[in-house]
Amino acid sequence: MATRRRTLLKVIVLGDSGVGKTSLMNQYVHKKFSLQYKATIGADFVTKELQIGDKLVTLQIWDTAGQERFQSLGAAFYRGADCCALVYDVNVTKSFDSLETWHEEFLKQASPADPKTFPFIVLGNKVDIGGGSTRVVSESKAADWCASNGSIPYFETSAKEDYNVDEAFFTIAKTALANE
Ligand code: GDP
Ligand code: MG
Repeated sequence: MATRRRTLLKVIVLGDSGVGKTSLMNQYVHKKFSLQYKATIGADFVTKELQIGDKLVTLQIWDTAGQERFQSLGAAFYRGADCCALVYDVNVTKSFDSLETWHEEFLKQASPADPKTFPFIVLGNKVDIGGGSTRVVSESKAADWCASNGSIPYFETSAKEDYNVDEAFFTIAKTALANE
C-alpha cells in the first residue's frame, strides 16, 4: 500500500480592511456569507482539507483581526507562509493601489528565500456589486499589475455569490504545494 503523506500549507490573506478577506475564507471553509460587518474574529486561522492529485493537503488559512488597518501584523502571522493571497475590492481604487504596499510588506516581513518566485495570488473581490456598475478597477488593469509583478495568478471573485472562491483557493493550494 502506498504511504500517504499529509501536507500542511500555510496561506496568509492580506489586503485593506473591508475588501472581503474574512468573507472569502468563510465562504470557502464554511460555505457561509453575511453582509453584517464583523471586524474581528476569534481564531488566528481556519483549516480546510483537500485532495490535490494523490496528496492530502491541509490548508491553514490565516486571517487578520482588523490589525491590517494599522499594517501591524505580528511576525507570527507571516512566519512560514507557503502562499500569500492579496485581496482588493474592484469597486474601491484605494484597495487596488494598496496591493503594492501589501506585496512589499509581505516580502519585507516574511523575507522568503526567493522573493522572485514566491507564490502570490491576487483576488479582485465583490464583482457582484451593482452588476458591475460601481466597478472602478478593470480586469485588464489588475491583470497588468499581476503580469508585471512576476506573473501572479489573478481571480475575480464574489464571496457573496460564491463566485470563483473554490477555484481561487484551489489555485492557492496548488501554488503553495509547489513552493513547499
Ligand atoms: P475584511 O475586512 O477584508 O475581512 O472584509 P470582510 O470580509 O469583513 O467584509 C467587509 C464587508 O464587505 C462585509 O460587510 C461583507 O459582508 C462585505 N463583502 C465581502 N465580500 C463581499 C462580496 O463578494 N460581495 C459583496 N456584495 N459584499 C461583500
Ligand atoms: Mg476581516
